[in-house]
Amino acid sequence: SPTSLASVVKQVAETFRVQAEQKGLSFTVNVPEEVPLINADPDRLTQIIANLVSNAVKYTKEGGVTVSVSAVGDQVELEVADTGIGISPADQKRIFEKFYRAEHPYVREVGGTGLGLPIVKTMVEEHGGDLQLESQPGRGSRFIVSFPALKDES
Ligand code: ATP
Ligand code: MG
Repeated sequence: SPTSLASVVKQVAETFRVQAEQKGLSFTVNVPEEVPLINADPDRLTQIIANLVSNAVKYTKEGGVTVSVSAVGDQVELEVADTGIGISPADQKRIFEKFYRAEHPYVREVGGTGLGLPIVKTMVEEHGGDLQLESQPGRGSRFIVSFPALKDES
């Protein structure tokens, strides 16, 4: 059903602000006023956003997290960027597998089950969306999810 990614992102991202700020991280949410709606289930969108933003906060020790929504051509994009530990090229190939966690001391230290990203991938695919990852070890990561925009009927 027609859903505002912009408003779900604003609500869900804000629930991580205190956690980020308690770690001394900056936390920025950029959502423009007018963004096309997408065809999506709000509960599933919530899970996609929560998993990506929780990872960004969890795997970042200094700097911060930026969550952005933007309209790009006929797509609506969600970008979750962090200045965290980053993900090696070898791990980038595997982190969407169930229970896979990177071989990294900080990843081991903070703990987790390795299920967040497989869920994100499944749900993005269910929405006809696309998921991209750019990351450099030691510098940070950027996850971009794009959804087909609904045609404006106003
Ligand atoms: P959980 O099931 O609690 O989410 P998890 O965070 O370990 O556990 P995923 O969210 O699936 O599991 O992430 C898989 C792995 O990908 C992580 O263990 C970590 O190695 C890596 N990872 C995910 N997001 C980031 C990120 N933003 N920065 C660095 N590494 C990340
Ligand atoms: Mg996770």
